[in-house]
Amino acid sequence: MPENYDLHSHSTASDGALTPSELVRRAKQQGVTCLALTDHDTTDGLAEAQAAASEAGIDLISGIELSTTWHKHCLHIVGLNINPEDCRMKEGIGKLQAIRRERAEQIAAKLEKKRIPGALEAVKAAAGEGMITRTHFADFLLSEGHVSTQQEAFDRYIGQGKPAYVSTEWAGLEEAVDWIKQSGGIAVIAHPMRYKLTASWMRRLLTAFRDAGGDAIEVVCGRNDPGETQMSTQFALNFDLAGSKGSDFHNPKHVWVELGRLNPLPERIRPVWDLFKASA
Ligand code: AMP
Ligand code: MN
Ligand code: MN
Ligand code: MN
Repeated sequence: MPENYDLHSHSTASDGALTPSELVRRAKQQGVTCLALTDHDTTDGLAEAQAAASEAGIDLISGIELSTTWHKHCLHIVGLNINPEDCRMKEGIGKLQAIRRERAEQIAAKLEKKRIPGALEAVKAAAGEGMITRTHFADFLLSEGHVSTQQEAFDRYIGQGKPAYVSTEWAGLEEAVDWIKQSGGIAVIAHPMRYKLTASWMRRLLTAFRDAGGDAIEVVCGRNDPGETQMSTQFALNFDLAGSKGSDFHNPKHVWVELGRLNPLPERIRPVWDLFKASA
């Protein structure tokens, strides 16, 4: 059977709808042979996912998706094959988790000013032990009838520049790459086309990322159109980065992003999994 890699996914440890075990079982059903769990700023789902993967008979890559701020842009850096027990990684994500808690209070306060009370209690209850993300706020706004889609929640309240948006200083790009590398992992720029960077800013980013020791870029992403995959392929080739692929799966109700339904990596691209096989 050919390998089917899906190297970007979320569970209830952050803003995914499925528990780590449910996620792994769904990945198996969808034909994924190697899944990376990459929750936002936490490794808490990994142990459960690893156990479920052994049971289901698929490979589980220990991953994370780190929130970073680079020249005022919020960029997501995926770490693959990390060691979740590494001290610096633990300390680093501890800081990001504190930032998330504080930001949740600030977002809730801004919503309260817009006469929308109760957000903090609701998102805390929904997130449980997991990270509180804007997805939780979007779901709250949806369930209270303030918006009719998740997208509308971002467009009207919590997206950048909207009334309940809180500008946040996350980890530095170099810092995040360093945590990943120090923990034995591979650093990957997540969904590069989502940042809407100009060509010159993209070149600056790829240069800075390479200089920091970054390894790869997502070339095949859940919602890429063919043009976006083509551009990402060119970035990878021009900057000598490996290519990753991942659905960024969050929720089975989001029918447009399913686990393991990704196009193959273009042949010219060095697959990121060659790197973790090489380091194994
Ligand atoms: P946070 O890291 O807390 O700012 O939350 C970011 C998460 O919100 C992303 O990982 C997505 O899952 C989700 N998200 C961001 N933008 C949108 C959007 N426009 N529509 C739906 N979900 C979004
Ligand atoms: Mn998310
Ligand atoms: Mn992301
Ligand atoms: Mn993601």
